[in-house]
Amino acid sequence: MTLIDVAIIGGGASGTTTAFHLATKSKNVYILEKNISYPERICGGGMSAAVQNWFPFKLQPIVDEVITNVEFSWCNTDKVVAELSGSSPFWIVKREKLDSFLLDQALNAGCNLLTTFNVVNIKKISNIWQITALDGRQVEAKAVVIADGSQSPWPKTFNLGPNQQKFASTYSGRVKRKGNLRDETARFEFGLVKNGFAWAFPLKDAVNIGMGTFLDNKNSISVEKILKSFLPDLGLDTSEVIGEEKKLRVWNGHSKLNGEGILLVGDAASLCDPFLAEGLRPALMSGFEAAKCLLYWLDGEVNDLDSYTKTIQKNWGNSMAWGKRISQVFYRFPKAGYQLGVKRPTAPKRIAQILSGEMNYEDIAKRVIKRLLFQNSSS
Ligand SMILES: Cc1cc2nc3c(=O)[nH]c(=O)nc-3n(C[C@H](O)[C@H](O)[C@H](O)COP(=O)(O)OP(=O)(O)OC[C@H]3O[C@@H](n4cnc5c(N)ncnc54)[C@H](O)[C@@H]3O)c2cc1C
Repeated sequence: MTLIDVAIIGGGASGTTTAFHLATKSKNVYILEKNISYPERICGGGMSAAVQNWFPFKLQPIVDEVITNVEFSWCNTDKVVAELSGSSPFWIVKREKLDSFLLDQALNAGCNLLTTFNVVNIKKISNIWQITALDGRQVEAKAVVIADGSQSPWPKTFNLGPNQQKFASTYSGRVKRKGNLRDETARFEFGLVKNGFAWAFPLKDAVNIGMGTFLDNKNSISVEKILKSFLPDLGLDTSEVIGEEKKLRVWNGHSKLNGEGILLVGDAASLCDPFLAEGLRPALMSGFEAAKCLLYWLDGEVNDLDSYTKTIQKNWGNSMAWGKRISQVFYRFPKAGYQLGVKRPTAPKRIAQILSGEMNYEDIAKRVIKRLLFQNSSS
C-alpha cells in the first residue's frame, strides 16, 4: 500500500478546500467521500463574499444571486430593511454547485478522489494513519483531516473538539420559483420559530427556504406549522417545497482542533455560528488554514500542528464566543431582542455587516460595551 501525504475524510466545502490547497503544492492527497455524486445538499447557501480571500480562482461563476438588501420581520409583520453596503457582499449559492466546483478545482490541482468510501475506522500505527472503508478498502497516510460534517464521530474518538457538542435543529428546502421575494433580497423571520429564525434566500430561478432553532436542541422543529405561516407571505405554497431536517453541530467553546498528524475542519470541528448558522465561511477558512499548517508540518518546518488550533481560535473562535452569548440572550427573549436589537436604527446594518464578513460579534460586543461605559460615565 502506498503511503500518501494526507487523507481527507469527506468531500464537502471544508474537505475540498483543504484538498485544493495541498494539491496545488504537489502533496499527494486523497479525498475519501462516502457518496458517489453531489445531490442537492441541505444548506441555505448564504455566504459572505469574503470567502474569495482563500482562493486564487474566482468563485463568482457559481454565485446565483448577489444580495444587496436584507429584510427582517417578526411574525411576517413589523418589517425592517437594511441595505448592504461595503466591499464584501453576501452571496447566495447552490451548495451542490459550490461543492462540485471546489472538488473540480481540487482534482485539477492533482488531488485524488475515492467515492463510495464510507470511512468506518481510523487508527494510528507507529505514526501512520490507517483509514478503512465499510467495504474493506484501506488508505495509509502521514496525516488525516476530518471533514465529514456535523455527524462526525471522530472528534470524540480522538478527544478533540468541544467537550460537549451542541446541535441546532434545522430544516432546509427549495421552491423552484421565486414567489414575491424581491431580487437581491434575503429575508430573515424571527417571530415564527421558537428559539431561532427562518430564512428565504433567492437563487436565479428558485428560493432556498430554511429554519433553525438554537437553544433547545432536543426537540425537532415544527417545520409544517412554520412553513404554513411563512411561505404564503413569500407568495409560495407549502405543497411546492421539498426539504429535509438536519442536526447541525454549532460552536460551543474553544477547543483543541488538532492532534499529532490529525486536524478537524468545518462542521466536524464545531465551527458553525451558533447565532446565524453560518458554516460555509468557517468551513472554507478552516480548510485553507489546515492546508497551510499541514504544508509546514509535511515539509518538516514545524514539529506539530498546534498553530492551526491557535489560528482558528483567533480568527473565528473569539468572535463565536460572543456569538454564543448573543444567541443565548437573543433567542431566550426574542421579542425583546427583535424590538431592542434588530429594530435599533443601526442594528440591521450591523447584522448585514456580520453576514458580509465586514464585522464580527467581538467588534459588535466591544462597541456595545463602549457605548454603555460612555453612557454611564456621562450620566
Ligand atoms: C439547514 C441548514 C442550512 C444552512 N445554511 C447555511 C447558510 O445559508 N450559510 C452558511 O454559511 N452555512 C449554512 N449551513 C451550514 C453549512 O451547510 C455547513 O457549515 C457546511 O456544510 C460545512 O461543510 P463541511 O464540509 O464541514 O461539511 P459537509 O458539507 O457536511 O460535508 C461533509 C462531507 O463528508 C462526507 N462524509 C460524511 N461521513 C462520511 C464518512 N463516514 N466517510 C466519508 N465521507 C463522509 C459527506 O458525504 C459530505 O460530503 C447550513 C446548514 C444547515 C443544516
